[in-house]
Amino acid sequence: MQSRRGAFQVGSFRGIPIRIHYSLLLVLPLLALMFGSVIQRAAQTAEQPAELIGGTSILWGLGVAVGLFASVLIHELAHVFYALRHGGKVRGITLMIVGGISEVSELPQRSRDEALMALVGPLTSMALGGLCFGAAWLVPESGFFSPRFVLTYLGALNLVLGFFNLVPAFPMDGGRILRGVLAGRMGMVRATRVAAGVGRAFALLFLLVALATLNFFLAFIAFLVFTGAQGEARQVLIRAVLEKLRVEEVMSPRFHGVEVDTPLEEALRELRRARRLALPATEQDRPVGWVVLGEVMQVPEQERPRRAVRELVRPAVEVAPGQDAWSAMQRMVEAQPPLLLVLEEGRLVGTVDANDFNAAVMLHLSSEEDRGGGWPRWRQERPA
Ligand SMILES: [Zn+2]
Repeated sequence: MQSRRGAFQVGSFRGIPIRIHYSLLLVLPLLALMFGSVIQRAAQTAEQPAELIGGTSILWGLGVAVGLFASVLIHELAHVFYALRHGGKVRGITLMIVGGISEVSELPQRSRDEALMALVGPLTSMALGGLCFGAAWLVPESGFFSPRFVLTYLGALNLVLGFFNLVPAFPMDGGRILRGVLAGRMGMVRATRVAAGVGRAFALLFLLVALATLNFFLAFIAFLVFTGAQGEARQVLIRAVLEKLRVEEVMSPRFHGVEVDTPLEEALRELRRARRLALPATEQDRPVGWVVLGEVMQVPEQERPRRAVRELVRPAVEVAPGQDAWSAMQRMVEAQPPLLLVLEEGRLVGTVDANDFNAAVMLHLSSEEDRGGGWPRWRQERPA
């Protein structure tokens, strides 16, 4: 859910940033070497004299590697294109060592669309594979060995990419298709649980095969599938719970913030007293933003009595007590403030931070377990 670290942007598609992870730059020369040696061996087997490989085999290997990553990008763009057409939202595309990741922040509404969104990626890879084979066939036989071989090679890689992604190992595409199909029958939470379970089983299978064949690449994929399955299952559960709750059921009640004219020294005392890393900032009781412990601490101690909270205030991210907690959490993920200010008719009634969300989910699950009663309401605790 968080923004991708360790990646730099290389372009964009309809305003969606396309990023490359640094690990890819590391692996690119290795892949170029690997593909290059395959090309060289193929040339030897075909009894083609080495001179017939235009340029060096490593350069052609590099071509295959770059072509492979371009293919992965096209695969991801297919997902993104479908998601955007069917009401989804996408935060970014990142190309990584083991393929691409599209950060879909909002899935299409209908589970059928989610399944189809997952399906278009592998289908695109297969079509691309077919295109490469077709192009290879069209390249005239000129004794010039490499272009034809490289295209055939790329075609085969795309077919592998397409078929491998269809394996129902959630969160891989095949697993998403499985979840989409199941969700229509058993609801999103249970479908995700089942798909994640199947995904973890496949991850273990991948790991066994990887160990037996000493395939590091597959071991890495096993790891990603295993942790991804767990992470996504949790995310879906959190969403299902928070969608049912309102902000007022999640927030910590708070009716006063730190006034912007307060000296930093006193603000620090208030933060400690409240045992909070951040507090709302107010101007004549009107909420204007928040102030965070870390930034107060950065001001030299002797200056704190003279300087005011106003200097350090960051603009507030506001939510309403009646809105659903999931949409509030989305706001938090997007704007990344340490806390949200809950405002009713312009007045501060509470704050929500990551701990509040966490506690709400845990408490809700525990109350579902023992079929406990309703939720405490802040209105009842509000001073008269
Ligand atoms: Zn895909």
